[in-house]
Amino acid sequence: MSRKWAISLTDCIFCKIINQEIPSYKVYEDEAVYAFLDLSQVTPGHTLVVPKKHVTDIFEYDEDLAKEVFSRIPKIARAIEKAFPDCQGMNILNNNKELAYQSVFHSHIHLIPRYSKEDDFS
Ligand code: ADP
Repeated sequence: MSRKWAISLTDCIFCKIINQEIPSYKVYEDEAVYAFLDLSQVTPGHTLVVPKKHVTDIFEYDEDLAKEVFSRIPKIARAIEKAFPDCQGMNILNNNKELAYQSVFHSHIHLIPRYSKEDDFS
C-alpha cells in the first residue's frame, strides 16, 4: 500500500465527507464532484466544490479533471443564487498550497455569495 493512498483514504477530511464518514450539508453531488456548505460561513451559502478524486491542489489536475470540476461551477453557483434570493454576486476562490492560504489539502473551490458591499470578507 502506498503512503499517498493511505492518506487519502484515512486522513483526508474531505475524502471522509465525500464518503459520508463525517457529516456535511450537501449542496450538490454527481459522479465527479461533491459540493457542501463550508463549516465557517464567510457569508450565508458559502459552499465548497470538491472533486471526488483526491487531488491535493490545482497542480495535480489533468485536463479531464479540470473540465469535470470547473464545468460544474456555473450550475452550482446558480443553485446557490436561487436558494439565497438576496445574493447579489459571488466570489469564486481556489487556494493552492500553504503559501496561498490552503488549509485543507484536498483541492476545493470556494463559492462565496455576496449580499452587500458591507459583507465581512477580510
Ligand atoms: P482557508 O482555511 O484559508 O479558507 P482553504 O482554502 O484550504 O483555506 O479552505 C478550507 C475550508 O474548509 C475552510 O473554509 C474551512 O472552514 C473548511 N472546512 C474545514 N473542515 C470542514 C468541514 N468538516 N466541513 C465543512 N468545511 C470545512
